[in-house]
Amino acid sequence: MEELSRISEEIKTCKKCPLALSRTNTVPGDGDPCNGIVFIGEAPGRNEDIQGKPFVGAAGAFLTELISMAGLRREEVYITNVVKCRPPNNRDPREEEISACLPFLTRQLSVIQPVLIVTLGRHSTRTIFRLQGVNVESITSVRGKIYNFRFPWGECKVFPTLHPAAALYNPQMRKVLEEDFTNLGKILSGKNTQSTLDSFF
Ligand code: URA
Ligand code: SF4
Repeated sequence: MEELSRISEEIKTCKKCPLALSRTNTVPGDGDPCNGIVFIGEAPGRNEDIQGKPFVGAAGAFLTELISMAGLRREEVYITNVVKCRPPNNRDPREEEISACLPFLTRQLSVIQPVLIVTLGRHSTRTIFRLQGVNVESITSVRGKIYNFRFPWGECKVFPTLHPAAALYNPQMRKVLEEDFTNLGKILSGKNTQSTLDSFF
């Protein structure tokens, strides 16, 4: 995945939006791009900004747990974010920052050519659905279901769910996430009969 490393190198020197001014490190993405499974979060937080890697803080530990609930290992998926630099004080990324950074994500995806994308939270879900011309009003109406999308690189399943950081101190949201990932595991292993994913692996 030489092209993926080239994209990461470009991200490291990017100054296309104001987040370049306050970042310590860029967070291009991490993991194995060869299995066709990509997780997309929102933006790096404090720990990610320090280490230059996605989901390394408390939300990351929870995400690792969730990934294993789906029967996957964290090392076998690729993890990235919609924006590659940390917004100050972990505020939400702005529309113009998301637009400035989006070409990096779309290039990463067209190199990886995933068969499954898991979107974590509202920003990630809205951004990926928007690529299909679909406007997502609320994450609660779309989460926990699998969608068949056609991207420039081919067909791809999209599974939107909540953001693990939002659920850390909210037992109810935690439960929803755990249910979603358990269900995703069933879909991946073909045990969910409503699944359209069975032919993928
Ligand atoms: N939250 C995110 O959306 N991404 C990270 O990398 C860490 C926390
Ligand atoms: Fe560039 Fe994206 Fe970082 Fe903005 S967030 S400076 S567009 S890499």
